[in-house]
Amino acid sequence: PKLTFDQFIRHWAQERGDNVALEEGDDALTFGQLDQRSRQIIAMLKANGALKGDRIAWLGKNARHYFELFYSAARVGVVTVPIGWRLAAPEIAYILQDTGAKILFTGEGFGELASKSCSQLDAPPRVMGQSEALAAIEQAPADGFEAAGPHDAVLQLYTSGTTGNPKGAVLTNANLFSLRVPSEVEQQPWSVFDEEEAILVCMPCAHIGGTGLGIMAMGAGIRSIVQAEFTPDGVLDAFEQGITRLFIVPAALQMVVQHPRAKDTDMSAVKYVLYGAAPIPLELLREAVRTIPDAGFLQCYGMTETTGTIAALPPEDHSLEGNERMKSAGKAVPGAELKIIGEDGEELPRGEVGELVCKSPSNMACYWNLPDATESSLRDGWMHTGDAAYMDDDGYVFIQDRIKDMIITGGENVYPAQVESAIYGHPSVGEVAVIGVPDERWGEAVKACIVPKPGADIDPDQIIAWTSERLAKFKVPKSVDVIDVMPRNASGKILRKDLRAPYWEGRE
Ligand code: ATP
Ligand code: MG
Repeated sequence: PKLTFDQFIRHWAQERGDNVALEEGDDALTFGQLDQRSRQIIAMLKANGALKGDRIAWLGKNARHYFELFYSAARVGVVTVPIGWRLAAPEIAYILQDTGAKILFTGEGFGELASKSCSQLDAPPRVMGQSEALAAIEQAPADGFEAAGPHDAVLQLYTSGTTGNPKGAVLTNANLFSLRVPSEVEQQPWSVFDEEEAILVCMPCAHIGGTGLGIMAMGAGIRSIVQAEFTPDGVLDAFEQGITRLFIVPAALQMVVQHPRAKDTDMSAVKYVLYGAAPIPLELLREAVRTIPDAGFLQCYGMTETTGTIAALPPEDHSLEGNERMKSAGKAVPGAELKIIGEDGEELPRGEVGELVCKSPSNMACYWNLPDATESSLRDGWMHTGDAAYMDDDGYVFIQDRIKDMIITGGENVYPAQVESAIYGHPSVGEVAVIGVPDERWGEAVKACIVPKPGADIDPDQIIAWTSERLAKFKVPKSVDVIDVMPRNASGKILRKDLRAPYWEGRE
């Protein structure tokens, strides 16, 4: 089976040489051109001292240039580290320091942030701006090279930093492709791609939801349409351009389906809408299914450490009538194994909530420079997700929330996502996050932080009454804060730790 970038690039150059591999605006590169060009990129990397096992970093928005760089480096086992462009200089410096990257490539407009970040380092990487890199690639020879194998590291992705400091997950060729090789895994309707398909890559490339889609397209031999960053208009334009698949996070999906243009946009070409990376309120999901009725919806559950999706909720479970299944994140994708374990590592009976663990050829090799974290997360090949979940008799997993975010109030466990989903249905609520705050009587008390819909007012008593009608008493918020902006990270995830912080100052 094909398990490396080198194999896929050669294969598609031969089979689909004239098909477009990467497209950004008016700029397009075919699979044939990608094969040739990546040989030049490899020579350029070598001339600049980046060899197998070395790290190179990318600071910039999504770009064709990033993807061709990553694919080429991966052919020879030079490890690419894409860095989130929303990070601040000290955070970027931390990642550069941690990885010891040899070269930092910058996308358009990121030269200044790169120099600022590098000025904080004793041994800064060589910084190469886009025009310098492109010129160096033009001049480099399309030589032969020694290809990296399936178990060589090729990508180092930092986790989103939702619960703490981002950690660098080291991913090999085999990690990236093992669940995506059509001949190797049992076929699902949605894992079959037509040659004419096009994938929209609009989530940030520093996350698996961005770079992972490029990898998916390379495995499938189809066109990637790269957009610098997510905008609802960009997605609606891409629908009209005829994209057949996309992946977006729930916060982005909300912006797309609630956009005034959505009603008049032709979305008929879309085959699959992939969404996930954070809990999705049921009401939002139903609205999305109604707004994009011709598409198959596919919920993806996974993490950076598992190279993305390890469980998926298939289109047939998105029926608007019965909605119990729609609350599930789906079942293990072929090739991955899931189970729910208790505190002593024992497998729990179906229906009981415990920690979700995963055995998969897509599980990362390790966390970079964090042997203790690696040891506690990856045990006997099982990745411990840190997510609380239960599994039903058919193997569907129901993610409750992160174990770290669980609220213990009067001895009862409350998972914020469930409370958020109930509150989200209220007509005045735009966005909502639920946290635990210190409470004399209950230990922790449930609090809802709400951003009202434009023009709407939030009456805390009404929200409490609304929630009481839908959830057990102990899950109902004791208090409601109205806030202006929801703190989110670059992957669109709510930073509950930031909302919690002021209440817990000096206590934890
Ligand atoms: P960090 O590990 O740095 O705190 P993070 O966990 O947000 O950040 P990612 O690897 O991007 O970093 O995200 C993985 C997590 O996202 C999962 O552990 C889970 O909590 C959440 N998640 C992913 N997919 C889903 C989904 N479909 N439904 C609910 N939660 C999801
Ligand atoms: Mg995580």
